[in-house]
Amino acid sequence: MPSSLALTLPAKGAPFTVTAIERRVPRDDDVRIDIRYCGICHTDLHFGHDDWGGTLFPLVPGHEITGVVAEVGAAVTSLAPGDRVGVGCMVGSCGKCGPCTAGEEQYCAEGFVKTYSARDRDGTVTQGGYSRSIVVPEHFVLRIPDELPLDRAAPLLCAGVTVHSPLRRWQAGPGSRVGVLGMGGLGHLGVRIAAVLGAEVTLLGSSPEKAEDAHRLGATRFADLRDRRQLAALRGHFDLLLNTVPAPLDMDLCLGLLGLGGTLVNVGAPSDPVASYNTFSLLDARRVITGSSIGSVRETRETLDFCAAHGIGAEIETIPASRVPHAWRTLAEARYRYVIDIATLTAP
Ligand code: NAP
Ligand code: ZN
Ligand code: ZN
Repeated sequence: MPSSLALTLPAKGAPFTVTAIERRVPRDDDVRIDIRYCGICHTDLHFGHDDWGGTLFPLVPGHEITGVVAEVGAAVTSLAPGDRVGVGCMVGSCGKCGPCTAGEEQYCAEGFVKTYSARDRDGTVTQGGYSRSIVVPEHFVLRIPDELPLDRAAPLLCAGVTVHSPLRRWQAGPGSRVGVLGMGGLGHLGVRIAAVLGAEVTLLGSSPEKAEDAHRLGATRFADLRDRRQLAALRGHFDLLLNTVPAPLDMDLCLGLLGLGGTLVNVGAPSDPVASYNTFSLLDARRVITGSSIGSVRETRETLDFCAAHGIGAEIETIPASRVPHAWRTLAEARYRYVIDIATLTAP
């Protein structure tokens, strides 16, 4: 079995170690990728800390992967060695259920196969992109448009599509007022993409020092989520709120920011995901509260094409593999996504 160097968390609470992990010999429909970059998503931390329970250790996180095709199986038709590609949060799904046949693999009735910490269909446990190489079925491998550098493209595979998908579904565009809650990896792309789509964009955050960056990315306003006076001035203002915050928020306060028929979409996933709200916060103005999970393969392709067409890449800080433990401790300081340069992942 071929092996790959990887940054591994052997157990909950244990430090990262560099190990050799097994990668399968490519099957007919597989693509083997030499990984060049991998973004650090807050979800990696949720899994590493076992915030939601059920993490499979040893864990190799990472689902914002870009690299170059090294080898393809006999039945692969769309990709060839040397192609620039990416892999996001999914490496499999049943392919037969309603959502899968409708091209919404992220809502597969059997649950999609996550890029890491999942039991794959052959019984093995998936291991993610904090590693030198990965083997993934062709269907879940995305071509990276030439205009996008591989490092700034990596976060588009999770953070980018996770915000682009709901912004499209709820029709952010000219004439709509969008509020993005929280500006980290997801939020900064949410602000940028919503602005490029033509919406009036407000960043609602807890870091006033990010206001200047938010304006540069296309927001017209910053409001401090902790300041009730600032929020009161925006009551009923928004058509769409995109909540990327990985911590509980006052749902009634947020819902009150929506106008008639407005929608609050949760993409942030707190450790304690149970939130409560007053029913009157909904029926007062026919408001909607919902959530959205990453995006389909098709939506990921659309995100990459949209970002290429509009010159959108993630704002990144590239780090060597040795800095990953530090990056995890200081994620809140990233501007706005740490991306691992996988060439620096070497044997100890
Ligand atoms: P991130 O880079 O850490 O950014 C989160 C931002 O939220 C922070 O920069 C901060 O922005 C704000 N924040 C407010 N309170 C916070 C707190 N107590 N702890 C941390 N941040 C806080 O995270 P991310 O990678 O964007 O991911 C955000 C959330 O989305 C995570 O829960 C992640 O698991 C989830 N996620 C969901 C999906 C999905 O499919 N739905 C996909 C990817 C990620 P301000 O400084 O502006 O307040
Ligand atoms: Zn992610
Ligand atoms: Zn399915």
